[in-house]
Amino acid sequence: MPIDRMSLLVLRVRPPYRRELGTPTSGIHATARSGLGSTTTVRPPLASGDVPEGHTIHRIARDHGKLLGDRPVSVSSPQGRFADDAARIDGQVLESIEAYGKHLFYHWSTGEIGHVHLGLFGKYRVTKGSTPDPVGALRMRLVARDDVGEPVTIDLRGPTACTLDPPDVRDDIVARLGPDPLRRDGRPEPFVKKVRRSKRGIGDLLMDQSVIAGIGNVYRAEVLFVHGIHPERSGMSIDEAELFAMWTTVQTMLRAGVKSNRIVTVDRTELSLPKGARIPRREATYAYKRGECLRCDTSIRTIEIQNRTAYYCPACQER
Ligand SMILES: [Zn+2]
Repeated sequence: MPIDRMSLLVLRVRPPYRRELGTPTSGIHATARSGLGSTTTVRPPLASGDVPEGHTIHRIARDHGKLLGDRPVSVSSPQGRFADDAARIDGQVLESIEAYGKHLFYHWSTGEIGHVHLGLFGKYRVTKGSTPDPVGALRMRLVARDDVGEPVTIDLRGPTACTLDPPDVRDDIVARLGPDPLRRDGRPEPFVKKVRRSKRGIGDLLMDQSVIAGIGNVYRAEVLFVHGIHPERSGMSIDEAELFAMWTTVQTMLRAGVKSNRIVTVDRTELSLPKGARIPRREATYAYKRGECLRCDTSIRTIEIQNRTAYYCPACQER
């Protein structure tokens, strides 16, 4: 693709709009507290059935860090599977929560590091006010007191990983990951280098966490659409400048996702919506899970790549 068209496309990926920015913080749609000891259940950060992508993980780290960070946290595992680990850090201070791609690392004052990967089914639930009775397969429960002494409970169910390890385990996991565009230390060069060396399809490479960390199915479809690249084009066929531009595009998309706590990749000016109206979910993407392409109305096609469905527009993304 010529460079001028490319940069134009990149420019079209703007951060979301005022309205979006004003939407719920952290999935914390907390309704007003109705009285002392009342319980406010907070909606999990992901409203849809989609697998969490990097923006969700970074948002969790930020929001949960504010609720639990720098204070003693009681840690338990009502289900029992994390009970021995929980006992070692129960009552310790949580120094920080770090996000890297789709991984969360809990840095405890004991020097040990909790590792959580939500996988396909993992979910957090935040409850402000009195702590609810544990229900179901509750792997990890974190309870802290907020600044006025009210309890905040964060429950984790169904994660792929939930362990407590020495720091070198965290370092080993991170060493296997590609750069994360949402981190300050995330640099595009290793991503560009790996893609340029590979005969694999770009749609496959973008989901490979050792190539770039944090991208899932939605951002994959959308970044490829914005750059007019067919998901089956080989990594080595894409030129360097375009790969750097793709990094910037996906970084902009992910940052917008962290801010608004939802995925909106389309430019509002491409939709005919009343001013200030919230972009409905089905209109929030160009190609992902759409019937027709937002730009040209061609039917969106799908292909299976590593058992995940990739969406693309055959007209806008020629091979
Ligand atoms: Zn199209």
